[in-house]
Amino acid sequence: MSALALERMRLEGNLRGSIQRQELELHYQSIVNLSTGEIYKFEALVRWRHPQRGLILPSEFIPIAEDSGVIVPLSEWVLQQMCDQMQAWARHGLPALIGAVNISARQIRRQGIMRALDRFLRQARSASGHIEIELTESSLVQDIEHATAILRGLHERGIRIALDDFGTGYSSLRLLKELPIDVVKIDQSFIADITTDADAADIVQAIINMAHSLRLEVVAEGVETPQQAALLKHWGCDAAQGFYFSPPLPAQGFIELLQQQVS
Ligand code: C2E
Ligand code: MG
Ligand code: MG
Repeated sequence: MSALALERMRLEGNLRGSIQRQELELHYQSIVNLSTGEIYKFEALVRWRHPQRGLILPSEFIPIAEDSGVIVPLSEWVLQQMCDQMQAWARHGLPALIGAVNISARQIRRQGIMRALDRFLRQARSASGHIEIELTESSLVQDIEHATAILRGLHERGIRIALDDFGTGYSSLRLLKELPIDVVKIDQSFIADITTDADAADIVQAIINMAHSLRLEVVAEGVETPQQAALLKHWGCDAAQGFYFSPPLPAQGFIELLQQQVS
């Protein structure tokens, strides 16, 4: 067996117990309204604090979690953690934000996600309208009828729906038309080049205009410079997320960021 396959097996074995051992952490990245400069939303991003290897990023362990089925309890943990945090922040008088969470392809095909989200909405009545789920196109096109039924159900319960990494997959207009989508997130690979590459600039402007004509909110991902932020604002992009505003932060760091905004 190759060293890589062996390492993957080892990680898979450890990942199963990572929730009980409290090794998972949720970090929070602000999403900023480009016309007011205010943080009105955040994305919750999971990390694994591995006892030997340190902080492991989701690109390394989410695919393993999906293949092994660990994604189910892992996603429940992420949702629970995010909702608990939002309630704690509300108790501390912090402004109510929209919390966005990533849902993987495997989950949307299971009924469990509906039940879990339903439970959270009942637990925290105020959560309705304040929870957004981010999905990629590839997770939806495989079984569009089933996905449509599930998403309509969630949408009726007040869950907002965002299409993540838009532009990298099918960029399907049919999906945008038929599914109850609220938000389009333009992939960071386009944003990276908008100040240097005329084609990237044209594509991003076209996505913003198309989304607006469908009455969708547009968020630019991976904004790293003030020039990119200024250009996106000039084009009428609604919101932005990226290192220029803030990296994903542990809860305490994120609270400090919010408090700076309030004061
Ligand atoms: P994503 O949903 O597209 O999340 C955005 C990623 O871009 C995050 O990477 C974030 O740290 C990174 N990012 C933010 N601003 C910038 C920037 O200015 N420049 C650059 N170069 N990158 C930036 P991260 O946290 O490593 O997450 C990677 C992917 O893992 C996410 O992509 C998402 O698809 C997945 N993921 C993260 N958390 C979860 C989770 O709880 N559940 C599931 N199913 N997937 C998750
Ligand atoms: Mg995302
Ligand atoms: Mg993305």
